Amino acid sequence: MDERTTPVLYLVVPCYNEEEVIEKSAQVMSDKLCRLIQEEKILKGSKIMFVNDGSKDNTLRLLHEIASKDTMFSVVSLAGNYGHQSAILAGMMMARKYADVVVTIDADLQQDIEALDKFLASYMAGSEVVYGVRNDRHSDGIFKKGSATAYYKLMHLLGSKVITNHADYRLMSKKALNALSEYQETNLFLRGLIPTMGFASDVVYFDVKEREAGHSKYTLSKMMTLALDGITSMSVRPLRMIAVLGVLVCVFSIIMCIISFVDWLQGNNVPGYTTSLIVSLIMGGVTLFSLGIIGEYIGKIYMETKKRPRYIIDTFVWKEDE
Ligand code: UDP
Ligand code: MG
Repeated sequence: MDERTTPVLYLVVPCYNEEEVIEKSAQVMSDKLCRLIQEEKILKGSKIMFVNDGSKDNTLRLLHEIASKDTMFSVVSLAGNYGHQSAILAGMMMARKYADVVVTIDADLQQDIEALDKFLASYMAGSEVVYGVRNDRHSDGIFKKGSATAYYKLMHLLGSKVITNHADYRLMSKKALNALSEYQETNLFLRGLIPTMGFASDVVYFDVKEREAGHSKYTLSKMMTLALDGITSMSVRPLRMIAVLGVLVCVFSIIMCIISFVDWLQGNNVPGYTTSLIVSLIMGGVTLFSLGIIGEYIGKIYMETKKRPRYIIDTFVWKEDE
């Protein structure tokens, strides 16, 4: 382990259409950083780096306004909406040039910022990665709670190392970020990827609050995309399951063949209409579903072969502290 000294901390905050909440969040975040500086838990020069993920409202204008008044704020603006995962990656890759530790946190203040003390304590004790894990899900609706629980179960079943109830509120040291920069994959699922790197890591628990203002920017379709990406970019087990399913179906068909042949020999070959209908329907369903899964992976391979940039930075604002 390296000798730890008080770090320069960068908060990386992805923002997509957050005009209702961003000023309040900026205030709360800078207050917290000032207090941490006073308590000598982080060094002067620590900053809050907003990543504007192609917002269509006034977010970018507000961010520039905030940054023009206080050098503690920096603004990375992406050329379009690349999604939450790419936005935090862009922020982390930019921030690692200046910071010793980077913490990614949502713009809506749902994740308790007071947990930063615990994150920093864990870093000082030697962790390279610290995962923020939410205590409970009482602020979520039944649907989000249920689907999240089922999803984490499925991910673990498929062999992914995701940490249950951890949603990108996370500290990473410069060393871990440099390692992360070596990963070139286009299909990015940070929550699954980072645990596979294998650095000394720790978990910090925090309370989830209601969104301060505005509404969730994770639409159902964005959530489904993330969930699917999570599975297909972290595990090839679904492909193997198709193969196993194929073998089972073959065995079943052979048995059916024998039964029908015996039936035919006995001369009663007209009944059995229901059976054949059911069998062909099931077969059609299984085949299409399997093709769909394979298609997902082929799509992933297709995107990876293009080696497109994962985000494009349009503008960047960063000022030296006075
Ligand atoms: N976000 C983003 N790009 C997107 C969608 C969301 O950068 O395409 C940001 C958003 O501004 C917020 C964070 O990701 O800071 C989490 O989104 P949100 O709070 O809406 O999700 P929820 O908490 O409802 O899961
Ligand atoms: Mg939120």
